[in-house]
Amino acid sequence: MADSAETDWVSRFADEVISEAERRAPGKPIVCASGLSPSGPIHLGNLREVMTPHLVADEIRRRGLDCVHLLSWDDYDRFRRVPAGIDPSWSEHVGKPLTSVPAPPGSPYGSWAEHFKAPLIDALAELGVEYTGISQTEQYTSGVYREQILLAMRERRRIDAVLARYRTKEAAESKEESAEYFPYRPYCELCERDLTTVTAYDDDSTELAYTCACGFGETVRLAEHDRGKLVWKVDWPMRWAYEGVLFEPSGVDHHSPGSAWIVGEQIVADVFGGRQPIGPMYAFVGITGMSKMSSSKGGVPIPSEALEIMEAPVLRWLYARRKPSQSFKIAFDQEIQRLYDEWDAVGRKVASGAAQPAESFAYDRAVRTSAGPLPETPRPVPYRTLASIVDITTGDEEQTLRILRDADGLTALDEARPRLDRAQRWVDTQLPADQRTRVRDNPDTELLDSLGETDRQALRLLAGGLDEHWSLDGLTTLVYGVPKLQAGLDADAKATPELKAAQRAFFALLYTLLIGRNTGPRLPTLLLAVGADRVRKLVGG
Ligand SMILES: [Zn+2]
Repeated sequence: MADSAETDWVSRFADEVISEAERRAPGKPIVCASGLSPSGPIHLGNLREVMTPHLVADEIRRRGLDCVHLLSWDDYDRFRRVPAGIDPSWSEHVGKPLTSVPAPPGSPYGSWAEHFKAPLIDALAELGVEYTGISQTEQYTSGVYREQILLAMRERRRIDAVLARYRTKEAAESKEESAEYFPYRPYCELCERDLTTVTAYDDDSTELAYTCACGFGETVRLAEHDRGKLVWKVDWPMRWAYEGVLFEPSGVDHHSPGSAWIVGEQIVADVFGGRQPIGPMYAFVGITGMSKMSSSKGGVPIPSEALEIMEAPVLRWLYARRKPSQSFKIAFDQEIQRLYDEWDAVGRKVASGAAQPAESFAYDRAVRTSAGPLPETPRPVPYRTLASIVDITTGDEEQTLRILRDADGLTALDEARPRLDRAQRWVDTQLPADQRTRVRDNPDTELLDSLGETDRQALRLLAGGLDEHWSLDGLTTLVYGVPKLQAGLDADAKATPELKAAQRAFFALLYTLLIGRNTGPRLPTLLLAVGADRVRKLVGG
């Protein structure tokens, strides 16, 4: 794919998929696909499996073409192991389909699969992801793949030959001793688990005999049997052909020699008469600073946890602006403030026409889909300002509105929502207790009494200028200006090293007097939050 400065990775994949669709299936809807296994929390790394085809499908729809984004829930996969933190008695369910395993204790959902699908379904709705969900349990148990299963069984020797090329010597030898290869595995009629072994199969009658580790065994007619599935390396290429998938990305783990993607290319062509989709590998998604208190599952957070602390367009932007092959990180720590500054800056550049094409594309894909714009915050006050305010006010709505009125002229909190709620949630769940701001109730008289005349004068100048400078800009001018005035400099004088040192010392003094630490939220925000009367009281004015 040519790397062009005038377009972005999404457009380039859409070009490629559209021209491939014209060759393979002219006139039919274009099919993009994702597959997720609800075997546990579906985390922010797994979200790339959905966001990558979503963005491509959305671009194809923006061009006026009919495009379907299939999301396969691999909920007919076996329950592999009991995760840490779950009642060990769940081990009796190992080997059953995920839809037949009870949900974790306390869950309102009917099965293990439903429990882990639910939060992602909510998150995808909030993210504006339009898709067609397919339960593989429903597909298999209703016999949708009957012909494909019979075909795969007829072609089992051909499939075995493809797989054999990648088997290690050791695996090949143990295979030698075992029985014939079968690409279909029944779930046991008695115990529901897949601890079964196919012992015989007759192509003409489709009679299949199996035994299970539980002792049960039976002979069924595969042409009527709906309690089993193709093994993963055959199941995936079968679905490429069955659904006519043209675009489906996958994680790095699917691309090693002998893995499903590699053998699938041959199996889809040799057995099912189809072709492998266009399928980029996507890289890792990392997290910075997920605090212990909210990482309840112990691992990577899930999309709904990210959406509690950031708006949907910002999360979309993280996935849109990096090529699938590039890894990136999602900030749960202080970095989220810098991330939001960057987001706001890009928004301003796009609005003024100064953005680079790639920046404009990524921003546009973040704020809207082909179905329309995503909800936005009418007055996007900087996230770091909102976080400081709700930190200081501990969420008191009246105080928060007073400060936002003084700082940005807001008349109602809803103007700052939903961003305000996200910042509030971030402060409540991610900001460590030792970094939270507590405004002093009473002046630090010991410190005030110990100050020299220069410091006292600085505090008098500050206290005396508050009312006149009562806005974010005004207070910024005031706090930087006091040390300039004391040094006999003009308000617009260039900062010298001496002046910078004097400013730093003055700021540290103010923080100590106001909040008992020598750093904190930006001073103008802090002053607005504390209120003029209380500032005067705390600085001894
Ligand atoms: Zn059994």
